[in-house]
Amino acid sequence: MAVMEFIALYFLLAIAVGMLAQKRGRNSAQWFFISILVSPLISAIFILVQPDLAEVARSRQNEADLKKCPQCAETIRKEAVVCRYCGYNFMSIEQRPLPTGARHDTRTYRGVIYVMYPDGRIAATIAGRDYNWNDFDEFKAFVDPQAK
Ligand SMILES: [Zn+2]
Repeated sequence: MAVMEFIALYFLLAIAVGMLAQKRGRNSAQWFFISILVSPLISAIFILVQPDLAEVARSRQNEADLKKCPQCAETIRKEAVVCRYCGYNFMSIEQRPLPTGARHDTRTYRGVIYVMYPDGRIAATIAGRDYNWNDFDEFKAFVDPQAK
């Protein structure tokens, strides 16, 4: 009877090793059989001293989800549209949603892409920063201070 109990315990420990292997990103069936052949204890120790593959995969995924802000060099989420450190805006003026009723009227002045709203206000993004002007003259004076 003691032999049967030992075999049952050995078998349960091998299953536990398989579960441990899976939790650490390894093949559970493969480690179940290794446990049966080698011993659950040795197999479990081997799995625990080896790198946690599930953790390695997670941190690799996290790195892939990040990008570097061109303005402040902080690391931020890849999906981020605005940098949470310095406010750098990754979305160009043409991609941004306009206020309701606004006409999507994009033009370029001296290499600066700007949007003119129906009421004459101007918005533009220069080097990642948003600017607003009340009219075209203000905008012109900002972009090209020499022009008169
Ligand atoms: Zn930034």
